[in-house]
Parts: sequence; structure tokens; C-alpha cells
Amino acid sequence: MNTLGGDYENCTVCGRVYAFLARGVCADCLNDRERRFHDVRDWLRGNPTATVEAAAEATETDVELILQWIQEGRIRRAPQPGDVRLAEAHAAEERRRRLREELGAAVEQGPATTPSTPHRGFNSRRNHNA
Ligand SMILES: [Zn+2]
Repeated sequence: MNTLGGDYENCTVCGRVYAFLARGVCADCLNDRERRFHDVRDWLRGNPTATVEAAAEATETDVELILQWIQEGRIRRAPQPGDVRLAEAHAAEERRRRLREELGAAVEQGPATTPSTPHRGFNSRRNHNA
């Protein structure tokens, strides 16, 4: 039976087959996440200096889910003292960003240790004479 095509997948949360919803989650689980999202967001509004871990515990939500919302910008939040997981996530993101910049610079400019390229001028002159 090939009628399902590519529009159906298994929900990554409950395993049920669902139709074309974003992020691999079915409608039920997506609704559940939205409820949790509002719980977490409201809780953090009332407890602005609490850690992500504390919010996860208070709202019975996965820390990973809250970190995901913060990364998506749905929850705006700076890391708090004692916010281990969020601080780790920020540090990892910063490392990735720097690595990308370094790799990008290396590809565009070549090794920064060679100040000039005299050989290129020599070669081009030789090619010109020949
Ligand atoms: Zn589901």
C-alpha cells in the first residue's frame, strides 16, 4: 500500500502515525507541548530569577524542551546563576559560532601565518615571459 506517500510519519513522542505536522510531533502532543509552554512561560514570569532546572521541576516539563524554547526565542531568558544546563547550551552555541567563524575565515583568507605571497608574482612574471 503506497497511498500514504510521504505525508505520514510516526510521532516522536507517542509513536502514533500522524499527518504532515512540523517537528515530528502529532497534534495531540503538539497541543500538550503548547500547554506546557504556557505553563513554563507563566511560571518563569513569576519567578524571573529561577533556574531552568527549577522551572522544569515546578512545571513537570523536560529541561530539554525548555532549552529548546529558549533557543527558538519563544522564551526570552538570560542564564541565571546556577542555571547549569542553559549555561552549557549557551557555551556550546558560542563554541560552534566561533568554530564556524574560524573555519569561514580560514577558507576565505587561507592560513593567517603567511604574510605575503612572493611566489605568485614570480610565477606570473615567468608565465608572462613564456
Ligand atoms: Zn504524539
